[in-house]
Amino acid sequence: MVFTIVLRVRAFRLECSSLFGAASARRQLMPARETEAIILKTFPLGEADRLVSFFGRTSGRVRGVAAGARRLKNRYGSTLELLSHVQLWYVEKETRDLVRIQQAEPLESFRKAQSDYGLSTGLAVVSEVSELVLPEHEVSESMFRLILLTAREVERTGDWALPLSYFAFWTVRLGGWLPRFDRCAACDAPFGTQAAFYDPLQPGLFCEKCRRSGMKPLHQEARILAERFTGERLDHMAFEKAMQASARELREASLTWIEHNIERRLATRTLLETT
Ligand SMILES: [Zn+2]
Repeated sequence: MVFTIVLRVRAFRLECSSLFGAASARRQLMPARETEAIILKTFPLGEADRLVSFFGRTSGRVRGVAAGARRLKNRYGSTLELLSHVQLWYVEKETRDLVRIQQAEPLESFRKAQSDYGLSTGLAVVSEVSELVLPEHEVSESMFRLILLTAREVERTGDWALPLSYFAFWTVRLGGWLPRFDRCAACDAPFGTQAAFYDPLQPGLFCEKCRRSGMKPLHQEARILAERFTGERLDHMAFEKAMQASARELREASLTWIEHNIERRLATRTLLETT
């Protein structure tokens, strides 16, 4: 598990450092841009710098270098923490491979969630999913608001269970990957009060008769929760103990559909089980 992450981090860093080299050879700076942004990920780069992947409200997902960000005294302060909401200034280069981050001012930080191991695991899932589903340089106001709302609710409630279910469900919905929740994808029979079933191999929910071995259930309560998610604001929903099982089922199904559509396993998903 850890080994896979290390490999992926290495691959990302290698890729970025070679891009950076190529870009600096033909450096042609453009005027500075400004955007409200969410920090998705950062990696150490060399002795003093950081590679930063951010999701800008007006830029989409962009990768850049924050020079000097690893020095003890640096101008970024704590703005480059996981899912921090910041105002960011950066300069694009002609090649557009990596931008140069000039300045970041905090708008909102999620200190409690960022510093707690259990809560930061929830944030890490949001970060990994966003990194994988958001195309580079593509603006998405709904995903921007979804990520922000999720981070705020993890921070406010001190629990990722409901926010993460909401995030995963809405990511599937916004991605256009949501199957029908009322009828079997194979035989069209309505589920009614019965459980529906899914697996990672095919999209869709299946009835008791059409289910294949190894499929997991999505009970009626979890489908009702999905309905509530489409109609109610997350920050207006109270998380009751009775919802725990449904929130988990819906989150598991949604993460499975995300993995099916991006065609890879989420590295952070197994960490949820240990928190
Ligand atoms: Zn069926």
